[in-house]
Amino acid sequence: MPGCTAGADGDQPRPEDRPAALRAFRERPAIRGMAGAAIAQGCAGSCGPLGARMMLTANQETRPGGIVVVGASASGIGVALGLRAHGYAGTITLIGDELTLPYDRPPLSKGVLWGTHVAEDIALATAEEISEAQIDLILGAPASSLDIERKRIVLADGQQIEYETAIIATGASSRTLPQFDGFDNVITLRTWDDGVELQRRLGAGARLGIVGGGLIGLEVASSAVRLGVDVTVVEPTAQPLANRITPVLSEWLLQQHRDHGVKLHLNAVCTDVVVDGPSVAALHLSDGSLVPVDVVLVSVGAAPNVGWLEGSGLELDNGVVVDQFQRAAEDVYAVGDIANGYHPVYQRRMRMETRSNATEGADHLARTLTGSTKPYAPVPFFWTDQYDFKLQSFGLVAMEDAFEFSWGALEDGKWGLVGRRDGALTGFFSRGFGPQLAQHRRDLNDSFERSLEQTLTKGVVQ
Ligand SMILES: Cc1cc2nc3c(=O)[nH]c(=O)nc-3n(C[C@H](O)[C@H](O)[C@H](O)COP(=O)(O)OP(=O)(O)OC[C@H]3O[C@@H](n4cnc5c(N)ncnc54)[C@H](O)[C@@H]3O)c2cc1C
Repeated sequence: MPGCTAGADGDQPRPEDRPAALRAFRERPAIRGMAGAAIAQGCAGSCGPLGARMMLTANQETRPGGIVVVGASASGIGVALGLRAHGYAGTITLIGDELTLPYDRPPLSKGVLWGTHVAEDIALATAEEISEAQIDLILGAPASSLDIERKRIVLADGQQIEYETAIIATGASSRTLPQFDGFDNVITLRTWDDGVELQRRLGAGARLGIVGGGLIGLEVASSAVRLGVDVTVVEPTAQPLANRITPVLSEWLLQQHRDHGVKLHLNAVCTDVVVDGPSVAALHLSDGSLVPVDVVLVSVGAAPNVGWLEGSGLELDNGVVVDQFQRAAEDVYAVGDIANGYHPVYQRRMRMETRSNATEGADHLARTLTGSTKPYAPVPFFWTDQYDFKLQSFGLVAMEDAFEFSWGALEDGKWGLVGRRDGALTGFFSRGFGPQLAQHRRDLNDSFERSLEQTLTKGVVQ
């Protein structure tokens, strides 16, 4: 996938995995020549925790106006660098509440848990690169409100930042379950700190209970197995992810986990916990089981970070509602996990929590703000790395679509499963490369382009 390289083996970060915008920026000497930035001591080249609220800015102070991006992660840094790559020469301010330089989240459930990836391996840009791009970066500074009338963003410490254009890139946070609140061995996985804490607890022989068998829960299960951890997954449905990857692939995926010794409790929920001091010692399940645990991962999805936007006047409904140009209101845009956008090809709103949507959405928005008038109509894409395989999903295959293997079969190491409705390709899944993969991608892209053209000809604008 762009930015994370669809089809790459494993998730080893490589120079080419850096945002495409960063590479493009480097090829623009005119803009690069403007950079003359001071780099705050102590954070150059690293994405590890920085310790306190801090500013990394070309002038050592924030400048009013210009484009202000709130949320300094994949989509936030992507749009900031993308703006420079596409020729924007005005002020860019990037505000993040975490005390780290922007970093990539997919490795949190893989390389960070294995202990093979340290902070700088997952950095999306170094302090030097951000400074070189003349991006004023404010870290450890949660935004607390947005005033679209006066065009101001207010930070939790009271600082007010004026904008000409505001971009909301505040992503999502892990959902929690009240029954697990307050225990010292219960973790969710969304941030660098979460990843480091979970990694510290996953020694060989540790007993890990994972509540929720979605993509992140199952990725952690596979990483923990690799570390010699005893893993139990509790999942309320019989076929987790069936609506995203089809029932047949859900069953195949579950079998991979069984084959690696993961204990799966399907159709089951945690009804109660056995408490030992400040910790959860065991999970009582609705199927009558008692599962002893040393650590619990609650992995029950993510909720968009819209709290700071309450009362702003923006439409908040499963994220920030945006039109097909990623616009939430005049001079206000949203991008990445937080954006619930109208998709002109599917002709409905969609909020996509995928790494490719963060990268593509950021690049698209940067182009829009520098003159493009094309609607944002991405081909949905995600991948998951578990055990020795990478499963990739292109398009949207619905449960009621007809499926067939286009190459290989499940028992083979490589296969492709396509979905069709009324004969038309709706999407496909692949493990490894097959001869038809490139052709399917072309077919899907072409059908998107055709649908988009038809929509534009009809003049449908949402
Ligand atoms: C463990 C894990 C594994 C994943 N693996 C995959 C994968 O294999 N494949 C895939 O396609 N996708 C994967 N994803 C999803 C992918 O990482 C996300 O889609 C992507 O990170 C979204 O980027 P974003 O910038 O839109 O939002 P986020 O990454 O959520 O970033 C939002 C940023 O805004 C900050 N913020 C929030 N509120 C405020 C505020 N009020 N003020 C200032 N800053 C604020 C947040 O702290 C955060 O830094 C994974 C996610 C996780 C957590």
